[in-house]
This record gives sequence, structure tokens and C-alpha cells, in this order.
Amino acid sequence: MCGIVGYIGFREAYPIVIKGLKRLEYRGYDSAGIMLYADNEIKIAKTKGKVSDLEEKSKAIASSKATIGMGHTRWATHGVPNDVNAHPHCSGDGSIALIHNGIIENFAELKAELLEDGVTFASETDTEVAAHLVAKEYEASGDLVEAFRQVVRKLHGAFTILVMHEDVPDLVLAARRNAPLVIGLGDGENFLGSDVAAFVEHTKRAIAVGQDEI
Ligand code: GLU
Repeated sequence: MCGIVGYIGFREAYPIVIKGLKRLEYRGYDSAGIMLYADNEIKIAKTKGKVSDLEEKSKAIASSKATIGMGHTRWATHGVPNDVNAHPHCSGDGSIALIHNGIIENFAELKAELLEDGVTFASETDTEVAAHLVAKEYEASGDLVEAFRQVVRKLHGAFTILVMHEDVPDLVLAARRNAPLVIGLGDGENFLGSDVAAFVEHTKRAIAVGQDEI
């Protein structure tokens, strides 16, 4: 089931995330994407194909000296493998970036509600509903952790999800249900991964995130 990598700390995130994605390639995938937070904004590159294709495509943002990043390899379940359906997915205003492995089983009804609210969708994925829902809940509460908690409660199925919001740039949130997620603890930095292979060269201290934990 493909892979997820996250980094937040003081080092350049790009090489750490790309290397983490390469170490998760054994899990199989059809597309890859990366988010870097630098210069007060979320920067995204994504593509159908291999992590090596992503490296080509992300040259423009690779030099951004971001110290926060997340990476994704996708195994398409909803929507064909193409550049648009690759993760990360964003809220309408681009202030939220979200990556997901797994399947949101009730995405159709959640999408119908969002469409009724006037939300427009860029992709065919089940995942994109989660990005728009976080935006909606955050608009209501102004609290990203609470917004994420509300959204995760609404989702049925299997997921590892990472999310970041430009308004809260010192935070990468992650949650899991019926899908794997491990935190790697460093000094002044932390890592996220679908498994420890994503960050094993940086730290040996890891915490397995429990079922339904954020
Ligand atoms: N269901 C999501 C999609 O089709 C995520 C698939 C995955 O696990 O990579 O985009």
C-alpha cells in the first residue's frame, strides 16, 4: 500500500523526503508527489510515474530550503493514475495540502455535501474530499487540530493522512486508521513514515501511532 513521508525540523526537507520516498518504493505505486513549505507558502510538485520523474518535475521547488515537507507515493484506487490525481491535494484556495494512503469509503456522500456547498473539485480521487473538509472545519473553528479531528471522525475506511495548513506553519498533522503510520523522533526534528524505512537513517527512535490516533 504505497507510501508516506513527512519531515519537520531544521534541515532541508527536500532530500530527506525524496530519499524517504525512494526507500518506500518497494511498496509499489503509480504516481508520486511532494509538498514543501517555504517562503510562507505551500509548494507542490506531483506526477504520474516514478520518484525519479518527480525529481525531474520538482527541480523548481527543490532549492527552496524548506524545512517542512511531505511526500507521497500513490497506488490509485479512485481516479486514474495521472498528474492531477497524484497527491498532495489542496483546499480551493491552496492553503491546505493533504496526502493520503488508503480508501475513504464514504467519499461519495461527503463529496455530494461539499458540491452542494459550492466546492469545486480538481481531481477524481476520494482523497480530495478530506482536504476540502479540513478547510471547511478550519473555517468554522479556527483550530486546525480540532478541524482535523472532526474530519477524521467523519471518514470511513482505511487511511494514513498527513495535512498541513499555511496558517499554522509549525505543524504537520497525521492520523491513521487501518493503515500504517510511524513517528520518528529526532532532536529538534521529527519524521513521519508509513514505515521506519522512510527515516531509519536519521533516527532509531520511533513510535507506532495507534489506531484512530492523531
Ligand atoms: N485512494 C487514494 C487515491 O486513489 C489513495 C490511494 C493510495 O493509497 O495511494 O488517490
